[in-house]
Amino acid sequence: EFVQAATRKGTMDDKEMTEQLSAKELKKQSIDEVRKSLPTFAYRQDLLNAIEEHQVIIIEGETGSGKTTQIPQYLYESGYCKGEMKVGCTQPRRVAAMSVAARVAEEMGVKVGAEAGYCIRFEDCTSERTRIKYMTDGMLLREFLTEPDLKGYSVIMIDEAHERTLHTDILFGLVKDIARFRPDLKLLISSATLDAEKFSTFFDDAPIFRIPGRRFPVDIYYTKAPEADYLDACVVSVFQIHLTQPPGDVLIFLTGQEEIETCCEMMQEKARALGSRIRELLILPIYANLPSDMQSKIFEPTPPGARKVVVATNIAETSLTIDGIVYVIDPGFCKQNNYNARTGMESLVVVPCSKQSANQRTGRAGRVGPGKCFRLYTAWAYMNELEDSTTPEIQRTNLANVVLLLKSLGINDLIHFDFMDPPPHETLVLALEQLYALGALNHLGELTKLGRRMAEFPADPMLSKTILASEKYNNFVQHRSLKRARDVRDQLAGLMERVEIEQTSSGGDSAAIRKAITAGFFYHTARLTKSGYRTVKQQQTVHIHPNSSLFEEQPRWMVYHELVFTTKEFMRFGINKIFLRIRMGNSCLVLSFLLGKQLQLQCIEIESGWLLEVAPHYYKSKEIEQESKKMPRKQGKSAAELG
Ligand code: ADP
Ligand code: MG
Repeated sequence: EFVQAATRKGTMDDKEMTEQLSAKELKKQSIDEVRKSLPTFAYRQDLLNAIEEHQVIIIEGETGSGKTTQIPQYLYESGYCKGEMKVGCTQPRRVAAMSVAARVAEEMGVKVGAEAGYCIRFEDCTSERTRIKYMTDGMLLREFLTEPDLKGYSVIMIDEAHERTLHTDILFGLVKDIARFRPDLKLLISSATLDAEKFSTFFDDAPIFRIPGRRFPVDIYYTKAPEADYLDACVVSVFQIHLTQPPGDVLIFLTGQEEIETCCEMMQEKARALGSRIRELLILPIYANLPSDMQSKIFEPTPPGARKVVVATNIAETSLTIDGIVYVIDPGFCKQNNYNARTGMESLVVVPCSKQSANQRTGRAGRVGPGKCFRLYTAWAYMNELEDSTTPEIQRTNLANVVLLLKSLGINDLIHFDFMDPPPHETLVLALEQLYALGALNHLGELTKLGRRMAEFPADPMLSKTILASEKYNNFVQHRSLKRARDVRDQLAGLMERVEIEQTSSGGDSAAIRKAITAGFFYHTARLTKSGYRTVKQQQTVHIHPNSSLFEEQPRWMVYHELVFTTKEFMRFGINKIFLRIRMGNSCLVLSFLLGKQLQLQCIEIESGWLLEVAPHYYKSKEIEQESKKMPRKQGKSAAELG
């Protein structure tokens, strides 16, 4: 009765149709049906007409009505992406950007990253084909650095505007500005109810387009007394619902990954204890750092007879819509960053959520039918302890990062920047002070060369300065490489287990690693002679590449991976190639990670004695000692053992 989605299944059950249509066609058909069933669909043409007529439109619609997934597709379908133009849509949250892009790609019948893609920090899943681009608000902000007029976009949709994240707030000012000299650019400011008037006022009284949602009544239950342990209370409530209430999925709002994982474990344990006495309970977490294949699980339909429990951060408040939710459990907290400009201290703290959040959460229970919301706090607390709305992030965060970015966009007068709600004066001043101290600004408050370079990094100024300082101190790391290194390492570790090698650490002894490499590459040994490097067996003349840090060092004995003939035969150690041959891919990263050195190891220094150790059958000690006597070892820095 509750799950309206059952009516959508009609086509799936239709036997005749099933026989005629392939699975793919059937899927496409059911996707089309879902698309047409969304509240936005009825307003498709009206909306397109309004966009045609006005440059800026505020769109207000209930969560789940289809704003994020449908509107960019309507624009795409009606020609807004002609001539390689893109429709850009910002999301305050990474998970949402990834998830909606995946959904839209599925609806369009393409791979994510093709016509529909997403871009989040450290992950660009777009291509030249991408026409609908979902991205975090922070990413669009950074695009201003390379494309100040956003000329590649025909439409920018600032979605989830009500979230009022720092980046979204800054975007408001910037897009309002460029809209003045790009009359062809369309701006859509969309939000889940509330604040539409405020957005309209800010954007010079832009018209408001309201998409009436369907919303069923939701009964709200409060606790009689405050809960001492809200995680425990969540678990108790879930099982009460599961044992006493009609079908329908449950959504729990917690504050972060750790809490979510704990709660899931507690529920799993309890479900195990009850065993077959209860119907199946599917417990699914969702938070920002969850791997994306796990994230998509929350959208899979619940099997008949089972009940799904989604344990989420406030990402599920408005950014993601999970169909089938009938019960919401809300302990009434969220994690929030706070900044004290006087002490310069930043903190991430768990605070009571706002009434606005509480009501959004409640609304999630009424999408498919009448629902129930269990608030794990008292009615008195709701009335007296919850703020009406969440303070915009710009008023409670460190602004150093954003100030640096604005400065590098040439916006010098920050006091008069077009803020929807200006940040506290002292926060701005402190940000300027911090940037001056880091050397990003000079005493006139102008961007320095260092500051310009710092602004290029999507990181806090202290971090970007750290990264830039590595130019002087040589301390380079790359997030993605390390991540990939870990994946490859896991694969290698698995294979090592298969061939029964116990893993131990060399304890930072690079000689041990170089010995292991020599054991494999003794064939490729070169030694320094009076007339330069020669391979030991074939007596071929070879050279160290000038890019190698061993170029100056000229160690006596070397092994190399391969000879590359350009102008000379250079010795090089492209470790990736070695492992590519055993189909491991990317393993250069593992080794360079292990060795803590740069990516391309061209060649490495060895001690001649090792050759006897690793290949006594191949090298005669006479061969090696002779040479050693002739050539006195050149003095060099030990740090450059690896090149
Ligand atoms: P809004 O932006 O108005 O909140 P969305 O466009 O995000 O609405 O979602 C519209 C509908 O699309 C949802 O109600 C849901 O049915 C469907 N949907 C969205 N994302 C997914 C997904 N990742 N998987 C399956 N269905 C989805
Ligand atoms: Mg949305």
